[in-house]
Amino acid sequence: MSLRAGFVGLGAIGAPMAAHLARRGPLVVWNRTAERAAEFAARYRCRSARTPREVAAESEVVITCLPTSQDVERLLDGPDGLLGGLEPGALFLDCTSGDPATSRRLAGRLAARGVAFADAPVSGGTNGAEAGTLTVMIGGDPGTVARAREVLSAFSSRIEHLGPVGTGHAMKAVNNALLAINILAVGEGLAALVKAGVPARTAVEVLNLSSGRSFVSEVLVPERVLNGSWPRTFRLALLHKDTGIAQELLRDAGVKGPMAELAGTLLGRARAALGEDADYLEAIRLVEQEAGVEIRG
Ligand code: NDP
Repeated sequence: MSLRAGFVGLGAIGAPMAAHLARRGPLVVWNRTAERAAEFAARYRCRSARTPREVAAESEVVITCLPTSQDVERLLDGPDGLLGGLEPGALFLDCTSGDPATSRRLAGRLAARGVAFADAPVSGGTNGAEAGTLTVMIGGDPGTVARAREVLSAFSSRIEHLGPVGTGHAMKAVNNALLAINILAVGEGLAALVKAGVPARTAVEVLNLSSGRSFVSEVLVPERVLNGSWPRTFRLALLHKDTGIAQELLRDAGVKGPMAELAGTLLGRARAALGEDADYLEAIRLVEQEAGVEIRG
């Protein structure tokens, strides 16, 4: 890799993304919980910085992957903040599933320092991150996007330029709102079928031969629900956040959004009941609990 890279946010998806960068060239990382960064640095033979500022000062390209755009913006300021370390000419790529309005503000603040910004959220989950096959949805000016491709290709197999800053986040939010709607709908449909006496696996198999099938019914339910494994790879709290971003997007665009709104309300309820660490698919667990049935088989 020709650019010196810095990575901030070694969470469930950030860590496997950063691992690909570490394999390609020199990398410096920072994580809020310092032990996580130290472990990562020892494992992937890269440097762990003391502060976000230090990461920025040592990097030509900084990549962030935090829960929200607000978290990213908060890391800019203060004596240890990223802004203090960023040199004019640097590139700032935010892989957070963030919100368009905050990203546009961030881009403006960075541009004033001569730093180029693109929002570059990803899809493909932690498996895709480990395999290096994520899809990146990027928003930014063409020159910035062209410069970003080399570094993003370390962990992605498709980089789609969607438009100006904020469009990557808009695309990601709509995708995830559709995922949320689908999870909730598949959960309630299957709960009703099982209560009506249809074996859960048969119901899923028939669904997957029919027009109601989806990624949720074809992949997620067989891999996580039918076998009761409920792995934790993507927090329900983050999907709830994404649905909220989609709701805002719909409002700003003047599009009525009753589907996203209902999904947001139901996910909010699931988040309150199941907690901040629950996995997104556990929304189906709540449907099961409320219906008094288990979708297993
Ligand atoms: P995690 O909750 O696993 O990790 C969050 C990371 O951000 C951790 O490194 C955490 O540090 C850090 N962090 C949290 N709050 C702050 C803060 N206020 N200041 C500084 N650092 C902070 O999230 P994921 O890795 O799963 O998700 C990251 C982003 O990627 C989210 O926007 C998510 O929606 C998106 N995403 C996630 C996918 C997935 O499958 N997991 C798929 C696609 C997108 P610490 O170690 O200290 O907690």
